[in-house]
This record gives sequence, structure tokens and C-alpha cells, in this order.
Amino acid sequence: MQFGSPECFVSASSVANIAADGKQSGGNPRPAQEAFGSHRFLDQIPAAAVLIDQRGRIVASNRSLNDYLDYSPGELYAAPLSILGPDAARLLGSIKEIDGGQSPRLVRLQSRRGEMRACLANACWWSGDPEGARLMCALDCRDQVASEQILGRIAYIDGLTGLPNRAAFLRQLQSRCEAISAGEGAFAVARVDLDRFRLVNDTHGHHTGDGLLERIAKQLRESVNAEAFVARMGGDEFALLMDDRGSERELRDRLERLSQALTGPFDLEQRRIYLTASVGLVRVSDNERSAQEILNNAESALFRAKDEGRNRVTVFAPALQEQARSRLIVFSALQRALRDSELEIHLQPIVEGRSQALVTMEALVRWPDCYEGACQPSQFIPISEELGIAPELDRLVIEESARWLAYLREAHPALRGVPININVSAVTLRNEAIVDLLAAARQQYGLEPEALRVEITETALLSDSEHVQNVLCNLARSGTPLVLDDFGTGYSSLRHVYDLPICALKIDKYFVHRALRDPRSLALVSTILSLARALGISTTAEGIETERQRSTLVRLGCENLQGYLFAKPMPPAELPAWVERMAATLDATGDG
Ligand code: C2E
Ligand code: CA
Ligand code: CA
Repeated sequence: MQFGSPECFVSASSVANIAADGKQSGGNPRPAQEAFGSHRFLDQIPAAAVLIDQRGRIVASNRSLNDYLDYSPGELYAAPLSILGPDAARLLGSIKEIDGGQSPRLVRLQSRRGEMRACLANACWWSGDPEGARLMCALDCRDQVASEQILGRIAYIDGLTGLPNRAAFLRQLQSRCEAISAGEGAFAVARVDLDRFRLVNDTHGHHTGDGLLERIAKQLRESVNAEAFVARMGGDEFALLMDDRGSERELRDRLERLSQALTGPFDLEQRRIYLTASVGLVRVSDNERSAQEILNNAESALFRAKDEGRNRVTVFAPALQEQARSRLIVFSALQRALRDSELEIHLQPIVEGRSQALVTMEALVRWPDCYEGACQPSQFIPISEELGIAPELDRLVIEESARWLAYLREAHPALRGVPININVSAVTLRNEAIVDLLAAARQQYGLEPEALRVEITETALLSDSEHVQNVLCNLARSGTPLVLDDFGTGYSSLRHVYDLPICALKIDKYFVHRALRDPRSLALVSTILSLARALGISTTAEGIETERQRSTLVRLGCENLQGYLFAKPMPPAELPAWVERMAATLDATGDG
């Protein structure tokens, strides 16, 4: 309660009398006021109180009310009730209907300066006489209302981002679990964690990290809109609760779109930061798990996503443990394949944007007799990295690439001088041995240093950056050209372009595909291209599938292009025939 100490202007009996006949108050207020002043009755009421006669004029107010509404003692005397604002009149008007038995209401009273102040008020007939005076009592509940709101905020709102917090998420999840028991539709829970966000804090400090989180939260809220309930679970982790009425594919697509909001780019202290996010997803279609279990399952899936190399959506399945076992099976199968040299490479041409002449080729590993479910490089490469056999795989690809390159250069004059790009895993780049390995392969097949180019991803650079950077510098010193792969998907990309002896960068196919439908991606691609030009670095756009993509990228000044429009990755032996076909097509169209 916020009211002042008692101080009275009226006595009960005198008010009753005066108000009842109405003469004294209306005719000669001063004496009446003085007549009441010696009594302290109204001040015995532990609330703001005001007494109103039957004509709607104030005949007395206690000190609490005066203080509350900023009036000086006696100032309200004889003033019309309307001075207290419309709510007061409404409240007093309602007594008639329900004979004073109503419960208190939240009303707003008008202060001397016209401000509206919230209070909890009630009113009654002063002497039970509907023709007589009425008493209104009010409790200040500004602070109560405010503090309830504040408490509600603290309990359920994240202080930094203003998003609902973990407790709010759990509450929401519980009510969805109850709803599903009552027959409502299936839903999904996603836990989203920013990859390597710690680096932002470590490099720029927590203050900047917090600022970035606020911006991420804002973007997330805007892009999620009404599609999902989104909360910050703490640190750099967010959670989403969304309807799940379609297929897993649709759900993944939605999530991928949503997690785009988290990836930026964000401009921070003159640096442009790109983030990636890992997502653990649980689909819920029955009431067999508690809210907490669902959250835990989503967390296991999230850990799994991190394990598998981050920047991905992993769906929780009870078979997750089963899968871990099957990863071991894949691992043994892959190990055997490596030992028996069962892995092959395919080559994909990279062409000059305007002339479409072959400039280089990318070697992509293939596992013909693959273990079921792990046939794509994107499936078995992470296993090889996780279980430590990536360097053996890379060695095999390097040797195969050198061998095929020497053969192809012999076989077709158009291929002389054409180099080959080799993808090398982060694990391999941690060891100096790669430098000698490449040198030995070149020597064995009589290739010049520029013939074998190494493609590295930013993810690789980040895994152990200082150590990896030393190895990369040694590679560059030995004459091996370095190509930065998947450019635009990693963290704080531009730094690496400055810091490392990079000769070319490849714009990730994700941006290429988006550039035609999203002006922001187009602007990004265009910026990357002008930056590269300014630094004298050559550029390749990946994933060119359509003529429109080709012409757009060429127009933006991208030098080289790679994609299904020109050729899919093919067995190396098919390359000479492709070169012939391509030359014939270009001759026929007069493009070359
Ligand atoms: P990456 O280095 O970005 O390779 C390009 C991927 O894009 C290849 O997938 C290629 O087949 C695919 N691609 C090429 N043109 C197009 C196109 O027009 N549209 C679309 N949608 N895709 C296109 P692939 O061969 O499945 O390889 C996937 C990833 O696995 C590679 O991505 C690379 O990170 C890794 N990888 C592949 N081969 C090797 C290898 O020999 N060693 C290592 N360490 N990693 C490899
Ligand atoms: Ca590559
Ligand atoms: Ca790539």
C-alpha cells in the first residue's frame, strides 16, 4: 500500500447529515469543511477514500486520496465527481444496480495534472440510503500491477534478448504435450545452437557477443513470426516449438529457412560475421514423453549435429544409439575400402565463365562399393574425419589425382597445363606431412607445383587455426596454390582471405542458387566478387545449373564456373570425350 498517514476532514455523522440534506455542502463549503476537519474518521480507512453527496459533489477526501492524486488538503471539496475521471463515475453509478455488493474493480483515477493512476476500488452507500452520500475507497495498485508485470517478465522473459526464456519454453511445451493428449496435432521441438559462437566472445569480448545475440534474436523473432514459438534457452542456444503437419523434409526445409536468420551476415566492428547453426530436432506425435524428456531428446540430437560437423539439422530418432553403432560399421567398411584402394575419384570441370574453356578440374572422391546409407562423400567424409582416417583418404585422393592428371595430360592436348583441385580435410591440414605428400606425388608423376591445388574450407581453418595456418603457409611456400572452398558459409570469412596466401575462392552453391531470387544474396555475391578482384584473387562460383545463373555470375564478374550446367563429376577416363563435345558445341554456337 502506498498511501500517506491518516488526516481527516470530515466526521461520519456530520457527513451523513450534510450529505443527506445537501444544503450545507452546496451553500457554504468553508464552514462545512471546517466542521468536518476536527474528525478523523475517513482516515481510519486504510485506503484512499472519498465521500460524494447525492448530487455528485465531493464532500470529503482523506489524506491518502489527496496524496495519491496530488491535491492539497481541502482542495477537492465541492468539486464534481467527474474531476476524478470517468471510471469513478462509472463505479459509483454501478452501486445502484448491485446494491453495493460488487467486488473491487481495477479503475483509473485522474490526478490533479490529468494523469490516470491505476487502483483497485470499490464503493457503497454511505448510510445504506440510495438517496444519500456514497463512499469510494481505493487502493493504489500501480506498483502491484507493475511489479506483477515485472515479475512475469523476469520469470519468463530473457533479459538480454527479450525472447521468452527456458522456463517459458518449458511451460509452452508442457501445454503442447497436454494438448496432444487431448487430440491436438503433432509438433516438433528444435534446439538451435550457434556454431563456435565462443569465438565471437573470445575475439570481440562479451559485450559485443551480447550485442550480436540481441541482433540474432531480433532476426529470429522476425523470421519466425507466427510460425513457431521461439525462446532463448541460455548462452547461444535457442529453441523453437512448431506445428508438424507435413513430412520430415518439409520440417527440415522450414528449419533451414529459420536458421538462416541466425547466420547473418552481421557487421561487427568493421568485420562481417557469418555464423552457422546446428539444430537438434524432435518430432512429437504422441504423449509418451514428458516435456523435459522431449527437451533432452532434442539436446541429444543437437549434440549429434555438432558431432557430425555442425551446420546441420539432425533429427532425433530412438535409433540414434543404433546409428552410432552403424557408424562403426561404416568406419570398418571404409577402412577396408582404403586398405584395398577401393575408393575412386571423379573429376568435375571448372570452366572460364565467358569462353567456357576448361581451366581446372575438381577431384571428388567416390566409393563405388559403399556401405549402404553412407554412399555420399558428405556422409562418409565426416565419419572418416571423426574416426581419424581422413588423412589416409586424402592421401589416396592426392595420389589418384596426380596419377590421373598425368595420364589425361598425355591423352589429350587440351588438358596440358590444366591443374586439378583436391579437397583436403582439416585433420590432414594439421600435419606437416601433407606438404611432403604433395611434393612426392608431383615428383612421381612429373607435375609442376601448380598442378595440384588444395581446396580448404573455412571450417578446416577454424578447427585448429594457428597450427593449420602454419601448414598452409608451408604449402603455399612449396608452390601449392590454395583455394578457399565454400566461401560465405563459414565464420568471419574475410579475415582468412587477408591472412592466408589464397589464390582463389569458391563461392558456395548456396549463395549462387539464392542470388537469383534474393537481392541480399545477390549483393553478397557481388561484394565477394569485387573484394576478390581488389585483392587479385580469382573466383569460382559453384553449383551453376542454369543458363541464367551462368549469365548472372558472369555479369557480376565471376571468372570461373562449376556446375551441372557444364558437367557433373565424371570418371576421369570420360574427360577427354567431354572436352571434345564441349569444343564441338562451342564451335557450333560460335561462343568460344
Ligand atoms: P565440395 O567441395 O563443395 O564439392 C562440390 C560438391 O557439389 C560435390 O558434391 C559436387 O558433386 C557438387 N556439385 C557440383 N556441381 C553441382 C551443381 O551444379 N549442383 C549441385 N547441387 N551440386 C553440385 P560431392 O561430390 O557429393 O561432395 C560433397 C562434399 O564432400 C564436397 O563438397 C567436399 O566437401 C567433400 N568431398 C568430396 N570429395 C572429397 C575428397 O576427396 N576429400 C575430402 N576431404 N572431401 C571431399
Ligand atoms: Ca571443394
Ligand atoms: Ca564447395
